[in-house]
Amino acid sequence: MRSGPASKANWRNQLCDPNLEPISGNISEVQTAIIGFVPAPLTRDPSETDIAMMRRALLAAEEAASKGEVPVGAVVARGEEILSVAANEREATGDPTSHAELLAIRRASVTIDGWRLTDCTLYATLEPCPMCAGAAHASRLSRLVYAAPDPKAGYAGTLHNTPADTRLNHTLIVEGGLLEDRAATLLRNFFQYRRRRPGKAPETLLP
Ligand SMILES: [Zn+2]
Repeated sequence: MRSGPASKANWRNQLCDPNLEPISGNISEVQTAIIGFVPAPLTRDPSETDIAMMRRALLAAEEAASKGEVPVGAVVARGEEILSVAANEREATGDPTSHAELLAIRRASVTIDGWRLTDCTLYATLEPCPMCAGAAHASRLSRLVYAAPDPKAGYAGTLHNTPADTRLNHTLIVEGGLLEDRAATLLRNFFQYRRRRPGKAPETLLP
């Protein structure tokens, strides 16, 4: 039924895995429960490919920082093949949608000359925001691996988990925490530097 709002009971049913206990309580409690259903597991045993791809994304993030951009980088890969690399370009473009992940998805689609990124993985140094998590869904990516969680905008396990929301017509495997310390240090150093020297771009933020 797509016409009109779903009744509370139907909505709850849509949220639930059929094997889970039904949710009781009001809507806000249900919304909280959505997050609980789809926690992002930590990447405990990453492959060499995963580590290499995340390092490439971190390098892109560091290059972005040197240009005064918030250091977030992303890579789209199919197995060991890199299809695209991107970093945040909001300052350079003046475009609020120029996030690393969105740019990486767009460029990967150009590389393969098609919009379906099935069997591809998006590596991101920061947990994707609602927009980028939505783009990951729309592009039919198979997997998302991110480094640092984002407590203020993360939509891949922290505030919500769009890629793993089973109500959607496509879900992704989500793994977080790969090289988290390095990505978080890069961001922390960037903001510390910018507070001390507004408008200046840091030369290097990692040892
Ligand atoms: Zn984003």
